Amino acid sequence: MTIPTVSTSAILNHPNILNILSEVFGYESFRGPQQDIIEHVTSGKDALVLMPTGGGKSLCYQIPAIARQSAGMGISIVVSPLIALMHDQVGALHEAGVSAAFLNSTLSPEETQAIEQGLRRGEITLLYAAPERINTPRFLAQLDALYAQGLLSLFAIDEAHCVSQWGHDFRPEYRSLTILHERYPGVPRVALTATADALTRADIIERLQLEDARLFISSFDRPNIRYTIVEKKEASTQLLRFIEREHEGEAGVVYCQSRKRVEEIAEMLAETGIDALPYHAGLDASIRQKHQNRFLRDEGVVMVATIAFGMGIDKPDVRFVAHLDMPKNIEGYYQETGRAGRDGLRADAWMAYGLQDVVNQRRMIDESPAEEGFKQAMRGKLDALLALAEATDCRRVRLLSYFDEASEPCGNCDNCLSPPAVWDGTDAARKLLSTVFRAEQHSGFSFGSGHIMDILRGKATEKVTQFGHTQLSTFGIGSGFSESQLRGVLRQLIAMGALNVQGQVFNTLQLTEGSRAVLRGEVSVSLRESVSQKPEKRARKAQAPGPAAANLNQDALVRYINLKAWRAEVAKEHNLPAYVIFHDATLAHIAADAPQTLEDLIGISGIGAKKLEAYGQEVLQVCRVQLK
Ligand code: ADP
Ligand code: ZN
Repeated sequence: MTIPTVSTSAILNHPNILNILSEVFGYESFRGPQQDIIEHVTSGKDALVLMPTGGGKSLCYQIPAIARQSAGMGISIVVSPLIALMHDQVGALHEAGVSAAFLNSTLSPEETQAIEQGLRRGEITLLYAAPERINTPRFLAQLDALYAQGLLSLFAIDEAHCVSQWGHDFRPEYRSLTILHERYPGVPRVALTATADALTRADIIERLQLEDARLFISSFDRPNIRYTIVEKKEASTQLLRFIEREHEGEAGVVYCQSRKRVEEIAEMLAETGIDALPYHAGLDASIRQKHQNRFLRDEGVVMVATIAFGMGIDKPDVRFVAHLDMPKNIEGYYQETGRAGRDGLRADAWMAYGLQDVVNQRRMIDESPAEEGFKQAMRGKLDALLALAEATDCRRVRLLSYFDEASEPCGNCDNCLSPPAVWDGTDAARKLLSTVFRAEQHSGFSFGSGHIMDILRGKATEKVTQFGHTQLSTFGIGSGFSESQLRGVLRQLIAMGALNVQGQVFNTLQLTEGSRAVLRGEVSVSLRESVSQKPEKRARKAQAPGPAAANLNQDALVRYINLKAWRAEVAKEHNLPAYVIFHDATLAHIAADAPQTLEDLIGISGIGAKKLEAYGQEVLQVCRVQLK
């Protein structure tokens, strides 16, 4: 039996991008626009790549780097802000048999020197470095030397939206990356990001001087992610129920607004036996790194985090992303939820959303020291997200249309799966607004939402009586509405800008310019019926070993579980996350095939030449164990 041991150098003698895809990465075909991008960049032209999280951006610079190195063009430099993840990114390339290295502050002087030596000798194909490193005289001197020899092959600028101040990932050092093409003309550049909005895109092109680069925009659809937005009642209980019902034992991320809330929720989940860890900027760097490593290396960890967590996390089997508080805008929401299901298997994006979210986000904008024009832009972005949360039609259609992409109802979001009952809230809205108006007129100052709802529903509470509000003509005119209905009306009115919430302590309600049209009945208000009954539980075994193994028979399942245990050992030995060795889907494929020989393993997605050589025999052995 001959084992096709394809050494890296053999591949490099035949620089063919499809070959590299299958031999090095073990994949059969390109995804979406990958082939066009890779051909374009390999041929030495500039590109700006906009692709959703999980779309497969890494290959768009890794394959050109390998192809160009093999053609004698030298090293490719990958600019990335993700120092904490470079070790794993480079480790994944080593596993695939690619010569790669990183330079950052975590290395000792000796390690740094060794890598610099490798650079000079032309032994490295991909070098990862943070932008602040690139701007140092020492690093530039090295690039100068490579450039002089014609051995500077490509610059890949990952997470390119960091150059823009519009996103929350702004890194000032990205601004000075223009030095790359000024100092090294002729070296192609590829910039990549998952942030799609027009403002950021324009900013990237201008700031990185990519006017002549070809623009590649992928579809932003992530069909395997199911979007669900529920009305927030008791957020932590709702979250717990969601995890227990849908994602027992699976990895996920829970986003919260504040550090304090992160701590509380992580503790609450941990108390119920969920393997949950907190992550926010207030924690020690060493703790953050430790928690991140646990999340990446162990199975089924739930990370409870602020937005400080997540950029560049390439763990493919994150099964859910939950938002306990509403983000600032759709870009943020989409990027965060996009971290679920990179492996293409079923995943959930779940958000609990309520009145307080609307109030908080509006207030944060109002009270920020930014100039009015900026605030206006932020309000517009928030409104789009509120409209998504209140929507009664397909969430995905709305999300994609925000990114200028037309689509049909998806069949995989809450509104498609169980269309919500809708009721006409126009009358309730008018009654609510006139109560706000009359209470203020009567007392000379404004009141909060609880008090207004009490008046409307005719509840003569102590406060209502004390202020004489039982006398108002609107007292009790809304007694036919439930509190939860009125809360929905309130949210909608605030989301529409027909009501304002102000004040640090009491959150009082005020009418706005926009109130008038609603009062006159010119604007109709359509609301989703608040469901107190949870949608029925999905047919799914709580203890199922994840969606990758969904179709395995009993024997295959045993093989799969053994393969996972074997993979965990290897990963630990190599100090790498398990998915860097093999993805779940690859293990499931092996388990289903019950391979007998090394040939049987060839062609399974995710098994390249190097991995076949390194692990093939062991995998066969693990598979044989259960045949007895
Ligand atoms: P991004 O950086 O765009 O978020 P990645 O580059 O991390 O995405 O790719 C997401 C996942 O898809 C990775 O696990 C990667 O191995 C896998 N992948 C990328 N391209 C292909 C392909 N052509 N065939 C199969 N899997 C792929
Ligand atoms: Zn839908």
